Amino acid sequence: MSHVRGFSRRRFLSGVAILGATPVYSRLAALPPFQPDRQWTGDDFDEGHDLLRNPRGLLRQLGEPVDHPEAYDVIVAGGGISGLTVAYKLRRRRILLLERERETGGVSKSENWNGIEYALGAAYMIDPEPDEEDPAPQDVLNYELLVELGLREKGEDLAKEHGKRRRWAGNANHCVFTNSAVVPEQNVYTEQNVKFFEAVNESDNFPSIPPADQRLVHRLDTLSFQQFLLDAKVQQELYGATVGDIPAGGWEAIEYYFWGAFGTNSWETSAYHGLNFFAAEFGNILVYPGGNAYIARRLTERLRLHHPEIIRTGHCVLLIEPEREGKAYAVLAYRDRKVHRYHARAVVFASPLFLAKRIIPSLPAAQLQALDTLDYRSYVVANVLLRRPMRRIFSDKHFADGYELTRIHGVDVRHAKPEHLSARGVFSDIVNATFPIWGESDYAILTVYRPYPYAHGRERLRYLTYDYVEAEIRCAVLEGLSQHGLRGSDIEGVRLTRWGHPMLIARPGQLAGGVMALAGRSHPGLYFSHTDVQGAPAIENALASAHATVEAVTAYLR
Ligand SMILES: Cc1cc2nc3c(=O)[nH]c(=O)nc-3n(C[C@H](O)[C@H](O)[C@H](O)COP(=O)(O)OP(=O)(O)OC[C@H]3O[C@@H](n4cnc5c(N)ncnc54)[C@H](O)[C@@H]3O)c2cc1C
Repeated sequence: MSHVRGFSRRRFLSGVAILGATPVYSRLAALPPFQPDRQWTGDDFDEGHDLLRNPRGLLRQLGEPVDHPEAYDVIVAGGGISGLTVAYKLRRRRILLLERERETGGVSKSENWNGIEYALGAAYMIDPEPDEEDPAPQDVLNYELLVELGLREKGEDLAKEHGKRRRWAGNANHCVFTNSAVVPEQNVYTEQNVKFFEAVNESDNFPSIPPADQRLVHRLDTLSFQQFLLDAKVQQELYGATVGDIPAGGWEAIEYYFWGAFGTNSWETSAYHGLNFFAAEFGNILVYPGGNAYIARRLTERLRLHHPEIIRTGHCVLLIEPEREGKAYAVLAYRDRKVHRYHARAVVFASPLFLAKRIIPSLPAAQLQALDTLDYRSYVVANVLLRRPMRRIFSDKHFADGYELTRIHGVDVRHAKPEHLSARGVFSDIVNATFPIWGESDYAILTVYRPYPYAHGRERLRYLTYDYVEAEIRCAVLEGLSQHGLRGSDIEGVRLTRWGHPMLIARPGQLAGGVMALAGRSHPGLYFSHTDVQGAPAIENALASAHATVEAVTAYLR
């Protein structure tokens, strides 16, 4: 057993010991009544569609904009993790951030029930604590940001310090289960499988984002992740080892991992991105209450503290166009049936890339064409609110104190159509929302990830009703967890969030063929900062984009 696995196991055991000392379960009678409004939480699908279907037409309809003559240094269009990070790092400039929704955070949003924060989307990141001997530059930047925000501290042991409201989930907290049993690790992945991914994680050939080595991009991005797993020659050549045979349960767990993390199947996902995500899972996972929304909220608080007017929510950017012969940009944003025109020397487009075609029509034709080739997948997140704490529901300790729970079905995923599998109510994984508060609650929340990993999934989701999706998820959760201890009466309610285009498909060839570089290409005064720019959905990608943008904008404004 490797160092990383042994370490994780100790972490897991320390978590169990602490749980024994948590307060006892209070009586159900004390619960406040739950009154679901049976409406999607999170972002408003329909309003976004209405406003951005034809921005120029809408602008004509709404008449002359309200002009705001103040010239900003930078306007950031979009307040997800990436846009917030750019604004935070440039906060000493004259800066304005316009966010379409009422709240910042983008896909990294959370809500609260009975004092428990739970994620509506992004749930965790890879802990960026830099390697002491060989620190990766992106880790250093991400770690410094977290330290500056008061979200990470040097020398802390997040396996033990439960006063911290953040926690490491080692791979022992990754629990795979069937309807009737928790599956032992060796039945999911062999020791050779695990050693291989750990070796990739430690290797100089780790597929970093942003890519540092074009040769590696060409070697890996021209394969799918599944092809890579079957190609011992490439594995040996790049990592001096092979992954070996993967047990059936392992193939299935990998497949659901890809559904969950990319919204895709392993055979349609670039091996470069696939390995970047999957191998990193064998390191330390960093979890905050409510997931990555915790970071977004801290960034928002710090920005508002610096200047209460930096962030303007409820502003949907409709058009970005050059003015003063390209020396500045005008940004037109919709708010309350009016259009507002703002001006800046530089603009950072921090919204999903597919919107750039509509919002920045002045982009070069080749870039607009590259943007046209990008394709997205949809997602539902269900928060299942439970009237008993995890340890009172699930008898298996791996389960009760696990963080990420993946159900496998004994299906031969390599020969099953994802739409058929998915239509059977298969969720990709579940996270335990009380994990980063060390289980210290009388209640529990299971955050259930329900992707639609096939071509017409987005259309399907558009027409599925709230009640349909809720019933489907309730049934799937009960079917999967009832033999582990969950009862129907434990479920106080289910809240659902729909994400329309959050997952850019990381197709093989997009990096190596140059499409991604072209689609997200910045120009003097106009920059792109979003996870999409790197070609796959992850906070690390959103941050990588933000750091590069800050550097470029700073040089431009000098
Ligand atoms: C269900 C789900 C789970 C995920 N889980 C994880 C996870 O656990 N870990 C992880 O690392 N990643 C996860 N991700 C990926 C996640 O997308 C990224 O981690 C990250 O949150 C992306 O941040 P971003 O700022 O690049 O983009 P976004 O979050 O997309 O932010 C873009 C912002 O732009 C705004 N916007 C859009 N249009 C306009 C407009 N016209 N005008 C003004 N504003 C606009 C949006 O409202 C949004 O706030 C998950 C994604 C999904 C969908």
